[in-house]
Amino acid sequence: MDDKTLEYRTGKYLCPNYARYPLAVQTASGCRLRDFSGREYVDLLAGISVCNLGHSHPEIVEAICSQARKLIHTSNLFFQEEQVLLAEKLVATCNLDRVFFCNSGAEANEAAIKITRRYMHHVQGQNRHEIICFDGSFHGRTLATMTATGQDKIKEGFAPLPQGFRHVPLNDLRALQEAVNNNTAAIMVECIQGEGGIRLLSPEFKAGIKKLQQNNGVLLIVDEVQTGLGRTGTMWAHGEDGLHPDMFTSSKALAAGLPMGALVVSEDISRAFGPGSHGTTFGGGGLPSAAAIKSLEIIQRDNLVHYSRETGEWAMQRFQEIRDKCPGTIREIRGRGLMLGIDLQCPGKEVWSALLEMGFVLNLTQETVLRLLPPLIIPRQDLEDFAQALEQVLSQY
Ligand SMILES: *Cc1c(COP(=O)(O)O)cnc(C)c1O
Repeated sequence: MDDKTLEYRTGKYLCPNYARYPLAVQTASGCRLRDFSGREYVDLLAGISVCNLGHSHPEIVEAICSQARKLIHTSNLFFQEEQVLLAEKLVATCNLDRVFFCNSGAEANEAAIKITRRYMHHVQGQNRHEIICFDGSFHGRTLATMTATGQDKIKEGFAPLPQGFRHVPLNDLRALQEAVNNNTAAIMVECIQGEGGIRLLSPEFKAGIKKLQQNNGVLLIVDEVQTGLGRTGTMWAHGEDGLHPDMFTSSKALAAGLPMGALVVSEDISRAFGPGSHGTTFGGGGLPSAAAIKSLEIIQRDNLVHYSRETGEWAMQRFQEIRDKCPGTIREIRGRGLMLGIDLQCPGKEVWSALLEMGFVLNLTQETVLRLLPPLIIPRQDLEDFAQALEQVLSQY
């Protein structure tokens, strides 16, 4: 199939819910994507922060193939070795104790919402059910996680929505304090908003969240679906932000390209999910678990967390130089580690499109923010090549 036929047949046979980029990737390896004509692109998006070890990492391919030969799936009716090994590895990276595995970020956040409500009802015996979320956030597309999401356009036409969510402006501590009351069960937050345009939490806001958690018995749910696993220069973003979540969620990069999500939670709260209370057929299956175990091993062995931090700092400085050289084009550069946003003052779509033409794949979010989520193995030279292309494009404005 050539890519024109592919575009036509996509329109004919698939639901039209995705606005696709004018690119069809036929093969990929490392930090390179190849289209149907054999043209190469530098991948600065990694399948939206999924392929953090680059494409077709030989050790991941090997882990998947050998697990596939051994055992692909049995179900959670049985004990499963691979999911236990992975859970042990995950809890060793943080201060929490128990894991629930699922298949996506939305499902992990859905589990966080459900366990919060059930914990308040069943364990605490309190009628606290409200979850406070933030404007600009993104937590997924199920009915509950979409309701938690702080972007109206995502909810259009899907009413009636589940109850029990309240939104306040990000970094508005007074609004947050005023929103907390006797019904508040939890605060749900991304350490850095991804879809929302790489927006960070202010130091006062983080301190305020901590206080509400300590003094008001409010649980803290951190959505690390995009920020986790080294993306922001630490294994989890919440550590760097000084937050101590009662639970956090992971997905995207977790199983190195296979679908997997996880809720990581304290032992106390985990008891709210008694036998039969929640579940999913595929969650924590042998195949994605094996890929995730290998992926964590590689991230740790190859110091990719440290590499992400240093490379991100270097890239931010480099983009800052471009900002100075091309005044009036870049409003702000935000991010941490290899989660970077370049907030443009000139037409975002045009710049993004020109960069794609020049062979750089990245994402445009919130209309003005170029979002970079490159594989954590990205060579500096690729980012330098991107920086030069960006400068060339911006110098025309
Ligand atoms: C992508 C994302 C989700 C949703 O994950 P899916 O796997 O698409 O359901 C939730 N939260 C954040 C922060 C994300 O970036």
